[in-house]
Amino acid sequence: MEDCIFCKIINKEINSKILYEDEEIIAFNDINPIAPIHILVLPKKHISKLTDLKKEDEAVIGKIMSVINKLAKENNIAETGFRVVANCGVDGGQAVGHIHFHLLGGRKLENKM
Ligand code: 5GP
Ligand code: ZN
Repeated sequence: MEDCIFCKIINKEINSKILYEDEEIIAFNDINPIAPIHILVLPKKHISKLTDLKKEDEAVIGKIMSVINKLAKENNIAETGFRVVANCGVDGGQAVGHIHFHLLGGRKLENKM
């Protein structure tokens, strides 16, 4: 997808610290972390937002949760705890129009939502 920052990261047109990659999924450090661990995990397929998910995307979203689990363990936050966030649309505060999940941890996270 042209002009999508995350597609450019996937295509290695923009540099990022990639922590996990397979045929369908990529995970990299957020450029502007709000916690000691702040990783973005996303499908390589360009899906704009959560409400654009189709039945055929269910499997990759499930796999993303397994990748998040693996990354949490590798980054030593599985025991201390962490938060997974998917912002959707304007009111959800979504800034980048390629679906992604924030993995946040390494400090006590304030406010529940
Ligand atoms: P959103 O607000 O859409 O849920 O989150 C977008 C996230 O992408 C933000 O936390 C922002 O810091 C991150 N981000 C934006 N541009 C880049 C980039 O070029 N590289 C990386 N690694 N992260 C980015
Ligand atoms: Zn994209």
